[in-house]
Amino acid sequence: MTRLILATRNPGKLTELREILAAADLAHELVGADAYPEVPDVKETGVTFAENALLKAHALARATGLPAVADDSGLSVDVLGGAPGIFSARWAGRHGDDRANLELLLAQLSDIDAPHRAAHFTCAAALALPDGTERVVEGRLEGTLRHLPAGTGGFGYDPVFQPEGDTRTTAELTAAEKNAISHRGKAFRALVPVLRELLS
Ligand code: IMP
Repeated sequence: MTRLILATRNPGKLTELREILAAADLAHELVGADAYPEVPDVKETGVTFAENALLKAHALARATGLPAVADDSGLSVDVLGGAPGIFSARWAGRHGDDRANLELLLAQLSDIDAPHRAAHFTCAAALALPDGTERVVEGRLEGTLRHLPAGTGGFGYDPVFQPEGDTRTTAELTAAEKNAISHRGKAFRALVPVLRELLS
């Protein structure tokens, strides 16, 4: 069985990709970066989601000698010219402060009415092999931004993001409902044929 490593310490992402591999009958053993604690986190110096996903995947594949998958995602708001984009996790200054990021975004958009509040999530998922072979795919989720947060599920900007075709925010969806439509779910599912091509 091929061992495959996912560049994350987030157990939710591991479970999501494991379920997608199982549903596609891919028998790879998927482990998280926690299984290799000696491998340092890589600096995300890329200027696109795809570049950052590739940087993380290559670093992990080089360090472990295993095929490695990495994802990078974020929220792009039309009226902000695509921001926060690759800066989504640190929009308010401190990496990973979800609440401050969301409050800053709502304040910036406070005067903008519903028709101009379009946004989308993007996820780039990259596969890198130890010999330097690489592939990257993307998934997107289109929607609009609410004026007020709603829902307690998910993370990040979920409480203000209403996906196209739904009346709820992504924080009001179950994990299974969100995975079925999310940018990350789409990107991970788009990786399946790539894994079949390069790893079987
Ligand atoms: P990451 O690359 O998956 O770590 O995502 C970077 C940042 O983008 C997160 O810290 C969130 O602010 C935002 N983000 C990415 N995906 C989602 C999502 O599914 N819901 C809400 N926010 C997200």
